[in-house]
Amino acid sequence: MRFAIISDLHANLEATEAVLADARERECTHYVCLGDIVGYNANPHECVEIIRGMDCPVVKGNHDEQAALDESSRGFNPLAEAAMSWTRDNLTSSDKEWLADLRLSRQIRDFTVVHATLDTPDQWGYVFNTLDATASFTYQHSAVCFFGHTHVAGAFVRDDGVKRLVVDQLTIDPAKKYFINVGSVGQPRDGDWRAAYCIYHVERNSVEQRRVKYDIDKAQKKILDAGLPPLLAERLELGR
Ligand code: ZN
Repeated sequence: MRFAIISDLHANLEATEAVLADARERECTHYVCLGDIVGYNANPHECVEIIRGMDCPVVKGNHDEQAALDESSRGFNPLAEAAMSWTRDNLTSSDKEWLADLRLSRQIRDFTVVHATLDTPDQWGYVFNTLDATASFTYQHSAVCFFGHTHVAGAFVRDDGVKRLVVDQLTIDPAKKYFINVGSVGQPRDGDWRAAYCIYHVERNSVEQRRVKYDIDKAQKKILDAGLPPLLAERLELGR
């Protein structure tokens, strides 16, 4: 059994399709989506349609939450807000109802998934360092939990203390706890423009971090053609 765990697609259709093709090639048998399907890029409806059609476990991200509302209930920065009002105009009411109904966290077999944090999942805090991760670990009852939100791939491991690891391949020791950020499919911010996701090999007890090239020119052109802020196209190639 191999899970492809994807997060923060952010309406980037080219990146989403490239990641799903890579997962099929790597013989993934199951899929999980950690939210932020929409926001920032130019294909929110198409990305919702793909994930809905896969009928896999999905949790809600902060952009999914806001896209389902008539107007924003919490402060986004001006760039995210400009993209959000465009996103609302480009989703169907059925897309919005589906996004609104997503849960904040889920248990899948022996692991947990959440978009932002386990301690206060509806507050959308960011886990960037070991201190942030320590708070989340307190609420983690499974050995492995996958999350997203920061768009920065990397794993936090709790043993005697908590440390951060950035590796391509991680073997799960059931005596420890792992809070693993799968990175972002549609808008990576760790300096690498390629789409990020993880493969969880259940029988091998290992997690593989993947990076996948996609047609970034096409994704950027769509952002500009849609009249979205040009900075959203520029940042894609910087991985910021
Ligand atoms: Zn996001």
